Amino acid sequence: MTKIFNDPADFADEALAGFCDLHADLVRQVPGGAVRRRRPGQPKVAVLAGGGSGHYPAFAGLIGAGLADGAVVGNIFTSPSAQQAYSVAKAADSGAGVVFAYGNYAGDVLNFGLASERLAAEGIAVENVLVTDDIASAPPSESANRRGIAGDFAVFKIMGAAAETGATLADVVRLGRKANDLTRTIGSAFHGCTFPGAEAPLFTLKDKQMGLGLGIHGEPGLFDTDLPPAKELGQELVARLLAETPHGAGNRLAVILNGLGSTKHEELFVLWLTVAPLLRAAGYTLVMPEVGELVTSLDMSGVSLTITWLDEELEPLWTAPAETPAYRRGQSAVPSGGQLSADGSDGGAVAMEFAASSDSRNYAASCADALKAARTALHDAESRLGDMDAVAGDGDHGRGMVRGIDAATIAAERALAHGAGAGDMLGAAGDAWADRAGGTSGVLWGAGLRAFGESLGNDQAPEAAELAAAVAAFAARITTLGKAEAGDKTMVDALLPFAETFSERVSEGVLPERAWAKAAAVATSAAEATASLRPLKGRARPLAEKSLGTPDPGATSLAMIFTVMGPHLVGVGKVAA
Ligand code: ADP
Ligand code: MG
Repeated sequence: MTKIFNDPADFADEALAGFCDLHADLVRQVPGGAVRRRRPGQPKVAVLAGGGSGHYPAFAGLIGAGLADGAVVGNIFTSPSAQQAYSVAKAADSGAGVVFAYGNYAGDVLNFGLASERLAAEGIAVENVLVTDDIASAPPSESANRRGIAGDFAVFKIMGAAAETGATLADVVRLGRKANDLTRTIGSAFHGCTFPGAEAPLFTLKDKQMGLGLGIHGEPGLFDTDLPPAKELGQELVARLLAETPHGAGNRLAVILNGLGSTKHEELFVLWLTVAPLLRAAGYTLVMPEVGELVTSLDMSGVSLTITWLDEELEPLWTAPAETPAYRRGQSAVPSGGQLSADGSDGGAVAMEFAASSDSRNYAASCADALKAARTALHDAESRLGDMDAVAGDGDHGRGMVRGIDAATIAAERALAHGAGAGDMLGAAGDAWADRAGGTSGVLWGAGLRAFGESLGNDQAPEAAELAAAVAAFAARITTLGKAEAGDKTMVDALLPFAETFSERVSEGVLPERAWAKAAAVATSAAEATASLRPLKGRARPLAEKSLGTPDPGATSLAMIFTVMGPHLVGVGKVAA
C-alpha cells in the first residue's frame, strides 16, 4: 500500500521533484523528466531511458556517468507523452544524436516514435531501441512482440557504457539491440501493487499462490500456481530461461535477480542460493551479477530473473564503471572535462492568435461543452475504467483518461478565450490531452481530436456531412497511428461502428441528432461485445485469456464519451441537416 502522498494525481510529479532535489549534484529536472547535471565535455550520444514512473530506480535513478544521459518519466506506469520525450531529448542532446531505450509497450512505441519524428525533422539524429526480454509475454516465434521488464537494466547499462566510451549512434544502437537479443527474463508475482490513493491492489492472489510471468506495470502473472519452496522457484526460473538459450551463445552471463518493490533482499539472497549454483552447474561463469531492486513496480511483491549472454564485446560494457544516484559500479565513471549546465526551462508560453469565422467560434463553444460533458462522465467512471484495465492491463485507463480530459478542457477554454474556431480549439485540446495523459489511449485520443479539428476547420459550423467527415478523420488518425484493426479488442471496435453508422444515417437524410444517437447506441453495444474478444494489441495482449469476459476499457470509454458529447455537437441549430 502506498501511504505517503498528497493529492494522488500529483504523486509522480512530486516524487520526481523530490528525487531531483536530493540528487541535484547529479541530475537536473527538465519538463518531462530529468537529465545529467553535467553536460559532456565533447559531443556524445545521449542514451535516454524510458518511460513511465513507479519503477525506481528505473529510470531516473539510472541517470549518470556510464549509464543514462536522461530519463523520460511520465506518470505512474504510463508511457510519457511525445512532448515529454521530445523535451528531455532536446535537453540531453549534445550534438552526437540521441537514442530512446525503453521496454516494448504500445504507448511507449507511439509516443517515442512521434517524438523521434519531431527531432528528426529538426535535424537531430535519433534512434529507438526496444527491450523485449520477457519470455512469458509471447512465444519465441513472436519474440519481437514481447514486453520489456527487468532486462531493461542490462540493455541500458550496455548502451550507456558504450556511449560513454564515445561510440557512434549507430554503434550504441547496434550494441543495444545485440544485448536485447541476448537477454531473457522470467518473473513471478506474489502480490499486486497499489496506486497512491487506490483502495485495493491492482490484483490479488489466493493464499499461497503465485503468478508466473509477471509484468512491471502491476500486470498479474500469466497463470497462477501454488507457491513453491524457494528451491523449486529458483529451479523453475532457471529452467525456463535456459530453455531459451540463444543460438551460439557463450558461457559467460550477466545475471540480475530483481525484486519488484516489497520483496526483501533477504528473500532474494535465499533464492540466489539456488539460482547461482544451478547456473554454475550448467557450465556458466557469472559476471558481476546484481541482486536487488533495479526495475520495480511500486510496492508489488515479486521477483524476476534476467540473464544476458555476454560476448567479448558486451562483457566490458556490462562491467564498465557507472555512477548514478541509484547505481554505482567500479571506480568513479565521471568523465573529465564536463561542465555544469545552466538551468533554464524549455519554451515559454506561446502567444495565441486565431483566425476564425464567428460561426466556427460559436461551434467551438459547443465543442467545449461537449468536452465538459465528457469530463463529467469520465470522472464518474474513473475507478470503473481503472478496474477494467487492471484485469489484463495496468489499471491506469481511468486515471489516464481523467488526466487527458482535464487538460483538454482547460486548453479548450484558453483557446476559446483567445478567439479560436472549432478546428484550432480541438487541436489545442488534443495536444494538451496527449501531453498530460500519456499512455496508449492518451496519444490516440490527442491525435484523434486534432484530426477531428483539422477536418472541421475554422471557417464555418459544420453541416451534418462535414461532421461525419470529421468523425471519419478522427477514426482514420487513430487506426493509422495505432494500427489496430476491428476485432483486436481496442477502442477501434467501438469507433469504427460509430463512424460507419453515423455516416450511413446522415447520408440517408436522418436528422443528425438521431443519427448520432443511433451511432452512439451501436458503439455502446459494440464496446460491450468486446468482452468476448481476446486483445491483440496493447498492454492487455499478453494476458489475453484473463481479459475474456471483460469489455475493453478503451472501447468502453470511447462509447461513453461519444454518447455524452452528441447533444452538444449535433444539438438543434448546431448542425444543419
Ligand atoms: P496503456 O495501454 O498505455 O496503459 P490505457 O490504459 O490508457 O493505456 O489505454 C488502454 C486502451 O488503449 C485499451 O483498452 C485499448 O482500447 C486502447 N489501445 C491499446 N492499443 C491500441 C491500439 N494500437 N490502437 C487503438 N487502441 C489501442
Ligand atoms: Mg492501461
